[in-house]
Amino acid sequence: MDTKSLFKLTYGLYLLTANHNGKDNGCIINTAVQVANSPDRIAVSVTKGSLTENMIKESRKFNISAISTDAEFSLFEHFGMKSGRDINKFADFTDVKRSPNELFYLTKWANAYISVYVQEIVDLGSHTLFIGQMVGGEVLSDKESCSYAYYHANIKPKPAASSGVKGWRCTICGYEYEGEELPSDFICPLCKHPASDFEKM
Ligand code: FE
Repeated sequence: MDTKSLFKLTYGLYLLTANHNGKDNGCIINTAVQVANSPDRIAVSVTKGSLTENMIKESRKFNISAISTDAEFSLFEHFGMKSGRDINKFADFTDVKRSPNELFYLTKWANAYISVYVQEIVDLGSHTLFIGQMVGGEVLSDKESCSYAYYHANIKPKPAASSGVKGWRCTICGYEYEGEELPSDFICPLCKHPASDFEKM
């Protein structure tokens, strides 16, 4: 089985936002898809145990903002590589507004947002799948949507020519692991991606 075949699947990138007990949080996901119509249903998959996942389980609602190609790396760094348990991600991030469901959506670097009411929750082991009905949404700009491939080719900083470190580099965020062998159950401490997303330096 060649798991590299998984890299041939195409994905978009989204800011997933939630609110529970008056606290806002958000994270970056590449797993949002419309899975049915009449009514329109959306599914998102989120790392189990993350703060956003916990908040959606409790509040049963979320927004996804579709990230556009003009987005800067700082957006991915801010929402994708930090935990809302350590910082309030919206304390110094003001390019958001509240949609009618009272959740934040991105007003910059996004071309649309969609509001979803959760109807089904499926435990997938590493991730939780939320399936729900679209209850709101708006097109925000005519800029192109940012695919996962576009992020890798054009937004993510290129790794330094040679840092001299021997080990493994996370292809998602650039985190460097020092050591000859990368444990197969290793999880990137920055972006939480698994060992399969690392490449040898
Ligand atoms: Fe990483």
